[in-house]
Amino acid sequence: ACAISPKAIVSDACASYSTLERLNRNVKPALDELTQTTDFFSHYRLNLFNKRCPFWNDENGMCGNIACAVETLDNEADIPEVWRASELGKLEGPRAKHPGKGVQKERPERPLQGKLGADVGESCVVEYDDECDDRDYCVPEDESASSKGDYVSLLRNPERFTGYAGDGAKGVWDAVYRENCFQKSSFPESAALGKITTPKGPAAMDFKAVIDAAGRQQALEEQRQHNPLTPFVAKTGLEHEDECLEKRVFYRVMSGMHASISTHLCWDFLNQTTGQWQPNVNCYIGRLHKYPERISNLYFNYALLTRAIAKLGPYLSRHDAYTFCTGDRGQDAATRAKVLAVTEKASSVPQIFDESLMFKNGEGPSLKEDFRNRFRNVSRLMDCVGCDKCRLWGKLQTAGYGTALKVLFEFDNNDEPQPPLLKRTELVALFNTYARLSSSLTAIQKFRTMVEEAEAAV
Ligand code: FAD
Repeated sequence: ACAISPKAIVSDACASYSTLERLNRNVKPALDELTQTTDFFSHYRLNLFNKRCPFWNDENGMCGNIACAVETLDNEADIPEVWRASELGKLEGPRAKHPGKGVQKERPERPLQGKLGADVGESCVVEYDDECDDRDYCVPEDESASSKGDYVSLLRNPERFTGYAGDGAKGVWDAVYRENCFQKSSFPESAALGKITTPKGPAAMDFKAVIDAAGRQQALEEQRQHNPLTPFVAKTGLEHEDECLEKRVFYRVMSGMHASISTHLCWDFLNQTTGQWQPNVNCYIGRLHKYPERISNLYFNYALLTRAIAKLGPYLSRHDAYTFCTGDRGQDAATRAKVLAVTEKASSVPQIFDESLMFKNGEGPSLKEDFRNRFRNVSRLMDCVGCDKCRLWGKLQTAGYGTALKVLFEFDNNDEPQPPLLKRTELVALFNTYARLSSSLTAIQKFRTMVEEAEAAV
């Protein structure tokens, strides 16, 4: 009775914010341990630099590149170079190239060595390529024919303020929400959604449609606003009669992801006057506190990922499903124990999200493929993000949500999938996305206290 229905959202009667926050206090230490102390979960492989934005021309300034981010800071020239958006958005730390498939085949018995740094057991982060799976909600990161991508340290590149903003960033967010329309999309490629296996060259974009959609979205959002003084009331989300459940869920996942990114950039914000990294409460008020439905969507995502992780627990606990670190049994066992600590804690509450209500009635079943394809489109849109660090986390999180949806809607614990259902990159993305949401919940609570204290002081 207490599962969050995708309809009911986060309700006070059942899984209230405080329930989720209590759960988070229990899960977070184990999740941090997993994502911060294991090689397997602290490195992500992705094709960060070799894919072009498949939807529009990066060179037209709409999306794009560091230059468009830099423009948005009023007095960029006055800011010390190390604090400029172009510098803040750069990736740091060693990167290791993925060995090609051919090389892998030559030495199938022994994982190849990367170059990730002295303290990293490379054998734990190099994986073999799997075939793509039509149950995927994301474009698999190994899709590109030419490049196998890079391994990037997530610890060396925390998600935080980068200064990336302006038309480039807004264009991507608008296009993300535009995917929620579940009607003929403005993207020329949409006819072939799901069939695109490699990014196409730049295509013309219907900017007017995007801008109109953004305007409508804004208007909807205004309508949905609740009294900013009581931001933590139960009833939130899209309550439009004409919108089916699946569309609402799609919107909520995107908005919750956006809210989580906003939370991190406000929490780990660079004060360009003092050079200090510190929480920026005005940033929080302007982007989140005034929009309770955004916060609700973030909590909704937390519930959704908790359910996916809990559902995956029995599968991951089977010893033959994942080895985690071929060739190093000790590390393998330690990583598995840390994974299971997270899945057990995520399972410590009654089923928290009821996915069985989706894709059931009316047009539901036929929407599933559309839903999946639109989600894939959003994952492709991440190649249009013009800031390396933002692109890294945007790609990881869309892959994480894609994996969660795959687990929720394509996975039955009674199945015996062969080969394993999830690739390494999907597992890493899933647990790190959960960790992002977990730290967002913590930050939101601290921000909330700061606002209350500030209000009390007036
Ligand atoms: P934006 O956040 O750009 O929002 C655009 C519009 O979307 C708003 O005007 C509003 O109408 C609507 N909106 C905003 N939030 C929500 C929501 N939660 N739900 C529904 N609608 C909403 N910047 C960083 O500093 N660090 C990062 O790591 C980073 N990662 C990014 C990743 C991606 C994929 C993208 C596209 C951008 C990223 N950015 C990052 C940029 C950041 O998200 C903002 O775009 C930027 O700070 C400008 O913010 P803004 O106030 O103009 O509004």
